[in-house]
Amino acid sequence: MSLIKLDKVAKYYKSEETVSVGMKNISLEFDLGEFVAVTGESGSGKSTMLNVISGLDGYEDGELYLFGEETSHYTITDWEKYRGTYIGFVFQNYNIIDSYTVLQNVMLALEIQGYPVKDRKARALELIEKVGLTSHKNHKASKLSGGQKQRTVIARALAKDCPIIVADEPTGNLDSTSGAQVMKLLHDIAKDKLIIVVTHDYDQVAEYATRKIKMMDGEVVEDKKIKPVEPQFLTEVPKIKRMTFPTLLKFGLRNLLATPRKMIFMLLLQIVVMGVFTVIYTNQMQSVREADLGSSQLFPSVPETRLLVEKRDGSVFTNEEVLQIESMRYVRHVYTQADLFYNDVQVNVRSVNQFEYANLYADGTDTAEMLSARDIDGTIPLAMNEIVITTNNWSQFYIGQEVIVYVYDYSSGGEMTLGTFVISGFDNLQRNTIYFSKAWLEQERTGGRIVISRYQQISGQIASNLSYELNGTEYYAGKGWQNNPQNITIYGDGTQTILSNQTVVFTSNYNGTDYEVTMTGVSISQFSNNYGFSELSIGFYESIIQQFMANFESLYLEDIGDVMLSVSVDGIFAGRQFIDQIDSEIYKVYYPSNINDPMQAFNKFMQGILAFISLTVIGLFLYTIVHAVTRNVMNSRKKDFAIYRSIGANQTLLAKLVVLEQVILSLVGFAITFAILTALRTYITIIRSSLIYMRFQDYFILVFAFMAFGAWLGLRFNKKVFKQSVIETLSASKGE
Ligand code: ADP
Ligand code: MG
Repeated sequence: MSLIKLDKVAKYYKSEETVSVGMKNISLEFDLGEFVAVTGESGSGKSTMLNVISGLDGYEDGELYLFGEETSHYTITDWEKYRGTYIGFVFQNYNIIDSYTVLQNVMLALEIQGYPVKDRKARALELIEKVGLTSHKNHKASKLSGGQKQRTVIARALAKDCPIIVADEPTGNLDSTSGAQVMKLLHDIAKDKLIIVVTHDYDQVAEYATRKIKMMDGEVVEDKKIKPVEPQFLTEVPKIKRMTFPTLLKFGLRNLLATPRKMIFMLLLQIVVMGVFTVIYTNQMQSVREADLGSSQLFPSVPETRLLVEKRDGSVFTNEEVLQIESMRYVRHVYTQADLFYNDVQVNVRSVNQFEYANLYADGTDTAEMLSARDIDGTIPLAMNEIVITTNNWSQFYIGQEVIVYVYDYSSGGEMTLGTFVISGFDNLQRNTIYFSKAWLEQERTGGRIVISRYQQISGQIASNLSYELNGTEYYAGKGWQNNPQNITIYGDGTQTILSNQTVVFTSNYNGTDYEVTMTGVSISQFSNNYGFSELSIGFYESIIQQFMANFESLYLEDIGDVMLSVSVDGIFAGRQFIDQIDSEIYKVYYPSNINDPMQAFNKFMQGILAFISLTVIGLFLYTIVHAVTRNVMNSRKKDFAIYRSIGANQTLLAKLVVLEQVILSLVGFAITFAILTALRTYITIIRSSLIYMRFQDYFILVFAFMAFGAWLGLRFNKKVFKQSVIETLSASKGE
């Protein structure tokens, strides 16, 4: 039984129009120990025969026997096993991995066959020594001369310790000295192997050849035994072992590092695409999520950074519970005085100086503790009378400006002034919230616990129902514009009467109950009873309201105050996360600015469509770029893949390789993207505000998507490569 036997084998090359004969009717047998020289003119079928023998290309007719076994039923895997175990190739145009060093090229063959790790390098160096390239072992293949490349390839072929070596015009591109060197090298390693060398210059091998085959027009025209061959027996060939993960990892990393420019380019692409997509995605999601948010009827002026937590059993929060809630991921602060931030009326800011007109209607009030220095222009309010407001491009607010903070009282049509403040900064996150200093909020609370919210609500109702009785007639009282103390002006027919030092009982109704306040030392002017409306001086009016409010102190403290917590968060998204995370069996959460408004469902729908369209467009755009670049990069690796295959790498191994490379690339790309975004968030508001919306798992989804996409492209490429024979791939990539 001979090692290789061809029985009337034919191969045709079919193109769309023509069928040409590569070889036909070839019947030959080869054995170990032979050094076969194949000659013949160009186009006579030498390469075709070699490729078929070595399983690099298929055949059409006849039968090829390997070790006595028919091969017509061989699958791709069978051919790969055969090539991987038995065949070493040397091609005319070298087929070396240009981006690798000599050592890496030789090592690769050992790695693919699963050569023991500890002996790998020594073995590779030994082979490099054998082909005389020790001094060049760390040179890049692309920098080598033709002869050096060919010697590297021979070392690589030998690394496999395979019994058959085929060489297709190995000296075709070499000068005669290098050519002679290479032929001698082949002879030196020939001893117990089968060597088949194609050459157009028979003289070069005449001294070594044991047999000469001449081909013409695809057929063998001469087959001459020149020297006797000592019979050899096939010794056990090392089986290809599966590549271990560390070796695969090394392989992948080496590929990435061997082409640093390509890798950096791919990384940059990943970073840009990931970064852009992250920001756009989160911004779109934010607008969709928030499209249906209306304000609560209960708390019309509460910012989205506030939630209210109550215990379902109505009990008071323990210190441990407060600490536990404070330690939750999305929580910034917990305030045990919940009512502090729940405004029933809108709080506004107006310039003190009427010549610098500026007015701002805020969505709510909050504490300076909610501000990060990096989010504001200016400084965080520290002094009692400092506030931060939202930047307002059209208004003329400026840092250092004196402003009045006031509440517009719809019922009385007047304003309730909270005080005069100085703007210490602007909130760049545009939350349209007024931030008071902690000191001010605390001071207000201890001084009779004046709470912006319920205080204003009650005082508004008190003011709108204010009346008193004088001489049997009931008068309604409202705030006027004068400053005279303790003075009431009653508009009438002009009959002048002045009453001083009166005692007047004012009445007001709150929630169906009449409350009374007695004021003494009141003077009444321009008295007449025709119209029934009276105007109080500003100071007097306010002192009456304050008297009333003293009565309500317990009322406005009790119902929210001590059994609720106010939790501050970064925004809507964090608020929702918080609601998801808190134990809903024990706690009930109110989120005033997160109450769905059914009227806005359409709005949300439209926002959704808009987001879908823009994400699709951007996604497709990014996809096209990534796809084009990856495809180009992959195509530029076609030749390398064919070489891996020719050395014995199978489809599964190369599939693992592309996936692993992509995973490494995506992870590194992600780490860099994340670092860049984190660094930039301090300076770029849009990045900061979108990162707030990124959940932990969003990052994983993003990395995974990139990995999957890259891996998918890689696998597709790999599959395509394996649809072709090695020879087809090599000849297709020749021009590239
Ligand atoms: P040699 O190696 O002796 O120069 P080849 O085996 O390369 O000859 O070619 C044998 C014949 O097959 C030639 O006629 C050549 O044109 C044809 N041939 C070789 N490869 C292809 C191919 N990929 N497509 C079509 N015809 C081919
Ligand atoms: Mg040829």
